[in-house]
Amino acid sequence: MTAPTLILPERSRAVASDLRAAIGADKVKDDYSTLTAYAVDASIYRMTPKAVVLVESEEDIAATVRYAVERGIPLTPRAAGTNLTGSAIGSGIILDISRLNRVLELNCEERWARVQPGIVLAELNKELGRHGLLFGPDPSSGEMCKLGGMLANNSSGPHTLRYGAVKDNVAALRVCLQSGEWLDAKAYGLDDPNCADLLKAHQPLRELRSLLQDHATLIAQKRPMVSKNSCGYNLFGLADGIARGLLDLPKLFIGSEGTLGLFSEATLKLVEKPRATLTALIHFHRLEDVGEAVPQLLELSPSALEVMDANTLNLIGRAKHGIPADAAATLLVELDADGTGTDLRAKAERMTEICRRYRLTSDPLIAFDPEQRDQLWKARKALYPTLYRFDPKKKPINFVDDVVVPAERISELIRYLEEFFAGQHVPVAIFGHIGNGNAHIIPLLDVNDEVDFQKMVQGYHEIHQTVLGRFGGSICGEHGDGRVRAEFVKTMFGPELYDLFVRVKQSFDPSGVLNPGIKISDRPFTDHIDYVRLSKPCATCAKCNAVCPVYDVFQSEDMSSRGWFEIVTDKDYSYLNSKRVVEACLNCKSCRTACPAGVDVSKLILDRRAENPNKMAGVIFRFHAQTALFERFLKLLARYQPLWDRPLMRRLLDHLTKPFMRRLAETASLSPQLVLPRLARRHLRDRYPELIPQAERTPRSPVAYFHGCAANYFDDGVGDAVIAVLRKHGVEPNLPPQRCSGTPIETYGHRALAKEGARVNLASMAGYDKVVTGCASCTLMLKDYPTLFAGEPEQAAAQALAKRVTHISEFVSQSPVKPAMASSQPTKCKVAYHSSCHLRAAGVTKEPRAILAGLPGVEYVEMQDADRCAGGAGTYLVKDFETSQRIVERKRQAVEQSGAEVVATSCPACMIQLRTGLQGAAEVKHVAQLIQEAYEVADRQTS
Ligand SMILES: Cc1cc2nc3c(=O)[nH]c(=O)nc-3n(C[C@H](O)[C@H](O)[C@H](O)COP(=O)(O)OP(=O)(O)OC[C@H]3O[C@@H](n4cnc5c(N)ncnc54)[C@H](O)[C@@H]3O)c2cc1C
Ligand code: SF4
Ligand code: SF4
Repeated sequence: MTAPTLILPERSRAVASDLRAAIGADKVKDDYSTLTAYAVDASIYRMTPKAVVLVESEEDIAATVRYAVERGIPLTPRAAGTNLTGSAIGSGIILDISRLNRVLELNCEERWARVQPGIVLAELNKELGRHGLLFGPDPSSGEMCKLGGMLANNSSGPHTLRYGAVKDNVAALRVCLQSGEWLDAKAYGLDDPNCADLLKAHQPLRELRSLLQDHATLIAQKRPMVSKNSCGYNLFGLADGIARGLLDLPKLFIGSEGTLGLFSEATLKLVEKPRATLTALIHFHRLEDVGEAVPQLLELSPSALEVMDANTLNLIGRAKHGIPADAAATLLVELDADGTGTDLRAKAERMTEICRRYRLTSDPLIAFDPEQRDQLWKARKALYPTLYRFDPKKKPINFVDDVVVPAERISELIRYLEEFFAGQHVPVAIFGHIGNGNAHIIPLLDVNDEVDFQKMVQGYHEIHQTVLGRFGGSICGEHGDGRVRAEFVKTMFGPELYDLFVRVKQSFDPSGVLNPGIKISDRPFTDHIDYVRLSKPCATCAKCNAVCPVYDVFQSEDMSSRGWFEIVTDKDYSYLNSKRVVEACLNCKSCRTACPAGVDVSKLILDRRAENPNKMAGVIFRFHAQTALFERFLKLLARYQPLWDRPLMRRLLDHLTKPFMRRLAETASLSPQLVLPRLARRHLRDRYPELIPQAERTPRSPVAYFHGCAANYFDDGVGDAVIAVLRKHGVEPNLPPQRCSGTPIETYGHRALAKEGARVNLASMAGYDKVVTGCASCTLMLKDYPTLFAGEPEQAAAQALAKRVTHISEFVSQSPVKPAMASSQPTKCKVAYHSSCHLRAAGVTKEPRAILAGLPGVEYVEMQDADRCAGGAGTYLVKDFETSQRIVERKRQAVEQSGAEVVATSCPACMIQLRTGLQGAAEVKHVAQLIQEAYEVADRQTS
């Protein structure tokens, strides 16, 4: 079908202006940064839109649809933008449904929920999990993808074997039709008077009904004979409904990729969460053996059966994931116990017995514990973006990524594909849901190279044709057709059935504005390929968005980690056109920790800030660098703190400091609500003069304590606790001279100043066996000095220091000395742990938790979202207090739900932020303080 020519207004600004007038200024954006961020999704394509609408209600959706239809402007619905097919980008209006993200109603007894489309799958399941329930379909992108996209793509995942695809788990949808009217799309009995009313009211439904009746034979003939299919419109599901006397409308809209209507909510069918789960990783010597083992394994009713071929194992790094060098394929098996007495251990034995009939390279790895199970899944889940690290030019390209064949022929398919790509000399990863015969095929190509480009075009046609002709399969199991497969839908189903698809599209979207170019299109799949982006290191997978606290609050791609990557690496970037977004990043580093492709968005942003250092911050940090003068000033503030740190005075202070604060950032303030720590009248270094190394005194301690600014200047007991704990472990630390580690200085763009302080620290910390830290940010910054001095003479010294930096929790875990702890405590205090982002980025996650769990007076509870940023981020709570409080709200709820009396953490900014944000709901302590308390109790018991 040739899409109707859509008329675009000449001046792009007109679109956004009109929409602002229609639905409100704060919901419509068309600035450079926004349009750049929304020009991509997780596919290989780029299209820059005219305007972005962040809808907040059904009225907003209907008004935007009406406007787009009236003006003939393409309208693309968008959720998380993680599709791999280019279906969430477009040249007109992007309608982002992310802000509609609530669970509206939950019926635990009948196991259903009414949910808005902007909710992230992982968040939905977290909420349902509290009631022992689950929404079954599980795309591997579940941490970041949203319900709207899952519905529109008919997504599924590794657990389709047990739970089916989205289409099998939805009872009803609210759909905005292109007329702006709302349709309650559920399965209506054909003789139900409501069905008659509906047909009377909506002509497209009448046309659909007749089309299904008139072409029942054709539809039956063309039904794909594989266990899953997301190609074309699901007329097959509708025909099944008709055979059962139903007009099963969800079947039409699920998988329609925003081309027939827009969803504002869905009623989901839920399942009980499995009581226990077993995950197994099995390495086979021969690929063909996997194919033979699968039918036998299917008899155990696995919930997931995943395969990775030899090339995939090579590409992701065998050594890194503990995969034997001689494994030809790896199988991941998952079995659930659903409370009906399933004996998982017996099943595990049976599974091992089946697999041992074949040559395995090692014994199957079997895990029951959630953490170990996660480890087994890790390589599989991070696979796609990890492929991005393989080569600077050859990138994983999704163009034949989602084929399905009969399950018993999957090894034959894999063998064919391996030979095909070997013939092309193209590295390729082949993996997927073997139990369903669904293979994901990701070749690595440099599409900017003409030879590779031709290989892509050849592969597209040959492989799809082979899947259809030789295997009788489908070109699309779960990812959707989008732009990438639209060209082949006609070949898949033949011209007659394709013509029915066109008629369905025309009756539901006569003006052709709903996501044009998707599913029904005659354009070649190579149109709109983003050649520039495909040479960059980011896979645009959006995994970082899922952990970015700014995205969490704003739900807008221009305020997100992935969006910022696009903006700051765009050829038209300038600080002036993007200041708003470049200054919004907290530098929390959560994105860096999450990114499987090894991209550090926070660093790219810091690079951009370094091009425009903040002048006011420069004045402050230069004063800070004059240690003696600065400390005298702080002591003066400390002396008068009882006077100025009162509510009235704080309000006055906030007012008086506004002009200075504005020069720091538009949003900066010294909010009176900020719970400030007590400033020390005698700094830590004054209190422990005996620990300060004298030049002439030898030998000095092998251990230095890098206390940083906060522990030195705040009277909060943290520095004392670290020293006391070290002493208990038999170490008398040194407090060598030190300057700010540099984190806040770099955050404001003053890299040269940060380096100046870093040089002092490098010299001062040289020669110590261990440099112990208490502050999360100092820990990370010291470990990051090699990057700060990349290619400079100091790099070697920085690398040497980075290796010796040890957080106090690591020190305690590794220490051979085990100080006495209280034998028993009559009452236990409930303690949760907030994992500071910078400590996570430094790789310290397990030690603090293990220590807390082992303290005698502590009942450790793992709270939800423990690994999410709390919004303090150094001075961010001064730079943008309002946003920082919106961020911490989620943490407050998590603490409340956990029932913790104390929240332990490791970062001074987190401590201030938690004390401010928790509003007294729990006490906040440093991990070292809790360790110190445990040792003190033991001392009292023995004395
Ligand atoms: C690393 C990675 C792994 C993946 N693994 C899987 C997998 O295992 N299985 C799988 O199925 N997919 C997978 N995907 C693809 C993708 O994540 C899923 O298809 C996902 O469900 C898309 O959701 P989204 O929120 O990102 O939707 P988007 O990409 O934003 O949109 C997808 C489609 O939905 C439409 N849409 C969005 N909201 C609405 C609405 N309210 N009304 C109407 N239409 C709407 C859009 O127009 C578009 O056509 C993977 C992607 C990545 C990057
Ligand atoms: S920066 Fe990393 S996590 Fe974020 S979108 Fe790019 S590849 Fe994915
Ligand atoms: S550093 Fe934090 S705020 Fe900045 S982009 Fe990364 S996750 Fe988002």
